[in-house]
Amino acid sequence: MTLETPLSSLKGVGPRRAADLDRVGLRTVGDLLARFPLHYEDRARFREIASLQPGEAVTVTGTVASCGTRLTRRPGFKLFEAVIRDATGTIRAVWLNQPFMASVMLRGRDVILFGQAEPRPAGGLQLTNPQYEAAGTGEQDYIHTGRIVPVYEKAGCVTGRLQRALVHDVLAQLPLDRSEFLPAWLREELRLPDWCTAVAGTHFPVEDASVDTLNAFRAPAQVRLIFEEFLLFQVGLGLRRRAADADRKPVVPAVDDRIRAAARAVLPFALTAGQRQAVKDVVDDMVRPQPMQRLLQGDVGAGKTIVALLAAVVAIENGLQVAFMAPTEILAEQHFLTIRRLLGRSGYDVGLLTGSSAAADRRVVLRHLASGQMQLVVGTHALVQQDVAFARLGLVVIDEQHRFGVMQRAVLREKGWRPDVLVMTATPIPRTLALTAYGDLDVSVIRDLPPGRTPIRTTARPQARRDEAHRFVREQLEAGRQACIVYPLVEESAKIDLRAATEMADHLAEEVFPDYRLALLHGRLRAEEKDRIMRAFAAGEIHVLVSTTVIEVGIDVSNATVMVVEHAERFGLAQLHQLRGRVGRGTHESFCLLLYQEPLGEQGEARLRALVETADGFAIAERDLDLRGPGDFFGTRQSGMPTLRSGDLVRDRDIMEDARRYATAALDREPAGSALFAEARRSWSDRFGLASVG
Ligand code: ADP
Ligand code: MG
Repeated sequence: MTLETPLSSLKGVGPRRAADLDRVGLRTVGDLLARFPLHYEDRARFREIASLQPGEAVTVTGTVASCGTRLTRRPGFKLFEAVIRDATGTIRAVWLNQPFMASVMLRGRDVILFGQAEPRPAGGLQLTNPQYEAAGTGEQDYIHTGRIVPVYEKAGCVTGRLQRALVHDVLAQLPLDRSEFLPAWLREELRLPDWCTAVAGTHFPVEDASVDTLNAFRAPAQVRLIFEEFLLFQVGLGLRRRAADADRKPVVPAVDDRIRAAARAVLPFALTAGQRQAVKDVVDDMVRPQPMQRLLQGDVGAGKTIVALLAAVVAIENGLQVAFMAPTEILAEQHFLTIRRLLGRSGYDVGLLTGSSAAADRRVVLRHLASGQMQLVVGTHALVQQDVAFARLGLVVIDEQHRFGVMQRAVLREKGWRPDVLVMTATPIPRTLALTAYGDLDVSVIRDLPPGRTPIRTTARPQARRDEAHRFVREQLEAGRQACIVYPLVEESAKIDLRAATEMADHLAEEVFPDYRLALLHGRLRAEEKDRIMRAFAAGEIHVLVSTTVIEVGIDVSNATVMVVEHAERFGLAQLHQLRGRVGRGTHESFCLLLYQEPLGEQGEARLRALVETADGFAIAERDLDLRGPGDFFGTRQSGMPTLRSGDLVRDRDIMEDARRYATAALDREPAGSALFAEARRSWSDRFGLASVG
């Protein structure tokens, strides 16, 4: 048996079990060992039966005094009962519908049971469905009781108990001699046990281990495995960075007084401190010989566009071309108008290229890009993916999409282009996730907002008070403003939700706002239809936009001042913050009304309160990560995030920080042929499911 042995070849794992294990990503022996228990239970201390109190979780050992199957009054319901006796007394154990217990609980057999002691109506105590194990004679290696026991998550028909037995079997059979790839200096410094000790101790903890430490996942055995996983990931990132550092741009921009003057000429306002620092970071990158790989984070409205435009001026003044990519066509058009206005005086040739550009326009743009005459083009990400040829592409700006940054950079590389790349995102990403999802990017953050913003007023109300919200919307409409009403679509029941959203839109149109124009926008509409609706809303022809979350990366409509979010309890905090950012873009005071379904629960309440009380997207993002975990944080599984087996980005963020530091040290200290590097390369493709390190 090796770590690569498929689980399906293990004794006791038939096709059905193998399929269920596969579904949760467990294919090989290595996968099985890398998956941590959910938690640990101390079943090591045997209790005297006479001393048991109701409500305690206890381990007892004794002899089966009597046993048998009993029918109950409910048809089809069978009980198996056993009476266990030790030197101090007896206790009854009951298993519901587990007829095979008759072959385990044999009269006269010594057994160990673990479970919760409950009072019986007739007096005395009972264990219902306890964990059980035959007690051996002398020194026996207990699996399910009589020790600190790992508890695994059920995988389909594979119970936690079965997994425990499998892991135990595997550990007994596997030659535990995997060669060590962690450098010795590192293991010594961190006092990490070797891999074999770590794996064994993670699943079947040593006798004197502390259950509390284990349940905090900070036992040395566990830390070794988590650290190892994170380190391999961070070393991979480092190797990738190194490869990128070896890249050279065909033209390295320079900055002189003429260019500074050109930049000043496009500036319509004084930059905030955050913007100034971001511009400095970006320009410092641009004048280096290696292509820039920078992420610019800043809350909605922080003013990222001007930072990108100043970078564009530097590129253009150095004779280079700029591609500015937006996630949707409408956003591209909006950017195009803004950019053309700001760059108007500079006399640059600025173009727009989207799927709906007329064929003749398209031909002109393509020709001018190929000849180098056009200096800046705005479009969707199809810009760099399709057959668009640039004469001298020097800077690519990717706006508002943390989800695709990594992939698009890969596309650029494949095309043999080495432009500077600036990825901009309005989704504040907590530091740990940034280290992971964007670990190979340099990061600039704009934390301040331009002066003179009126904060959006946020309130949370139970949906029973929806009428109030609608009255408020009406007041705003009467004052000439526009409103958005957002409905969540939850994937599993998208159809039902969509029906609910449609019904709500009809109801609003006919009964609540009959004198205003209203439209429903949802993800199933054709792109042109969505586009048409968004345009009409932006033009003020639609007063109330009812939508699913598709407006999340929507457009700026400065006249929209109210955002009503239905079922706010279903949205992630970061997502709600994004949604809220869609209003408050003009001079009028703006409002966000969160309607929630009761009961909200303690955590739900804490989440909405966080949103009502803070306007800082980063604080909200950290909170969201704490409350919901990284998977939910990004909504869907996103490219660029590794598949982690042992570590947890939230629980183990301190270990990720360590791994980051030690990865940097290892890249400096270890020779090129280091086993660590080889393992990191292998892991990146085999284990994390990411593109190769390169
Ligand atoms: P985002 O970071 O969300 O992309 P934008 O770049 O669209 O933000 O800027 C939001 C608005 O703030 C724009 O109307 C922009 O002109 C304005 N703005 C940006 N920076 C400043 C500043 N330093 N002073 C005043 N207004 C600014
Ligand atoms: Mg923007």
